[in-house]
Amino acid sequence: MLNLSSHHLQTIQAHAESTYPEECCGLLLGHLSSDTKMLIEVLPTENSWDGEMVDVLQVVDDSSEGKFSKRNRFSIAPQVMLKAQKNARDRNLNIIGIYHSHTDHPAIPSEFDRAIAWMEYSYIIVSVRQGSACDLKSWTLDDNHQFQPEEILTVSL
Ligand SMILES: [Zn+2]
Repeated sequence: MLNLSSHHLQTIQAHAESTYPEECCGLLLGHLSSDTKMLIEVLPTENSWDGEMVDVLQVVDDSSEGKFSKRNRFSIAPQVMLKAQKNARDRNLNIIGIYHSHTDHPAIPSEFDRAIAWMEYSYIIVSVRQGSACDLKSWTLDDNHQFQPEEILTVSL
């Protein structure tokens, strides 16, 4: 279960709407205990997708649509990830997940999302249709590396 505040949701939705029609992405900082995560801070990052994951794509995408861009892919630069990890540690927080948007697509993980996903992380996906955030879901991997829906509990912090 992922606990967060309505303010967190608004931050993610606003970020997703601002980058439309490109996907947005960012990190979720907070606390992780056995099966409950507490989101403390939403950290928007730049979508640094530039096609560098093309080898992974060839493995997971057998539909050869060919055209991948920030409209349907996201990437967080490794140096951004490292900096965020240090920043989180200094404040006794952890990176507990990643959020990104799907533009004009449902808030359901793609095969690409699954291939690059890490265990334990929460993956929030917000669907943006014609510029408006309309649906938001969280997903987490099970033991078979398959995404399962994760319950979101909105709490007041
Ligand atoms: Zn995705």
